[in-house]
Amino acid sequence: MSHNELRKDFLLGGWVVIATERARRPTDFAKRTDQNANVSASVCPLCPGNEHMTPPAVLIYRKVNGQIVREKDQNGFRHKDWLIRCVPNLYPAFAPPKAETAIEEIMKNDSFALAVGHHEVLIESRVHDVHPADAELPQLVNVVNAYFDRMRELVEKPYVKYVSIFRNHGQQAGASLTHAHSQLIAIPFVPSTVAAEIRAGAHFWRKNRECIFCDLIEKESIGPRLVHQNSDFVVITPYASKNPMEFWIIPRKHAVNPLNLSQSETETFAQTLRSTLKALKTLVNDPPYNYGIHLTIDKSAQDCYHWHLEVLPKLAIWAGFEKSTGVYINTIPPETAARELRKTIES
Ligand SMILES: [Zn+2]
Ligand SMILES: [Zn+2]
Ligand SMILES: [Zn+2]
Repeated sequence: MSHNELRKDFLLGGWVVIATERARRPTDFAKRTDQNANVSASVCPLCPGNEHMTPPAVLIYRKVNGQIVREKDQNGFRHKDWLIRCVPNLYPAFAPPKAETAIEEIMKNDSFALAVGHHEVLIESRVHDVHPADAELPQLVNVVNAYFDRMRELVEKPYVKYVSIFRNHGQQAGASLTHAHSQLIAIPFVPSTVAAEIRAGAHFWRKNRECIFCDLIEKESIGPRLVHQNSDFVVITPYASKNPMEFWIIPRKHAVNPLNLSQSETETFAQTLRSTLKALKTLVNDPPYNYGIHLTIDKSAQDCYHWHLEVLPKLAIWAGFEKSTGVYINTIPPETAARELRKTIES
């Protein structure tokens, strides 16, 4: 009997089992359409008309004379004519500090701190269930611009060391509301996954004087794990993908975070996100997924880190082996995932 492959994650160092022997096809994971049917049909707090059900917005996009205008809800007034609406989470995991809290008061010592920060819900559309795979491009461009507007404001706060921008799609991926939305969480430390990526990047840079992601783009854009590429972005399935159908969107231009994207690059980013998520939706019948942007705001990582967006479909159940060892079994080889996604995008 021949063997499955063991592949080492070049960034995080762990081993992944790629089940080439009893590999499955993406369509094997397509769920029946009724799976999300029993999500409660109660009033949606994110729908237009229900603005009073959420805290005042910290950012709103409105259209005035054909132009996007950015505003906040102020003095108890709630704007009703929004295109994008970003509100504090009613049950924040990280909450803003009380006025005048010194940084020393937040990080008490090496192993204890207060969960100070910001937790926001970004409502992507007035229409309840228009998710990115089906969104009109100008609206998705608004979503992406709003991500970066919020991030720009949050990184200015002295206690913020990282801003996580992410999206949960489908109940099984943790979306408790079905209205199209993303979240931002600003936190007072660098999360361990990103810290490990930065360490790997720094190590590679010391050895090769090159960014590990720039190197990856160069190699993978001519290989079997290429999903899609255009003028500004390359989409690949990682060599040691933990998740079936996982893919990463990586900018060609070396940058540690997306805050300096031009408007045309932002549009291409939205377009790339839409076409790849659409391909995933088509192939696997709208699977649950999470996506998140990895970035840094630490200037010392300028040369060795490179921002990207990771799309992590939730198609496998991680159980005893995965949870107790941190070794993952992926039953769709990333080469198969890339080929199927590529075909779907091109068709
Ligand atoms: Zn809604
Ligand atoms: Zn780079
Ligand atoms: Zn990453």
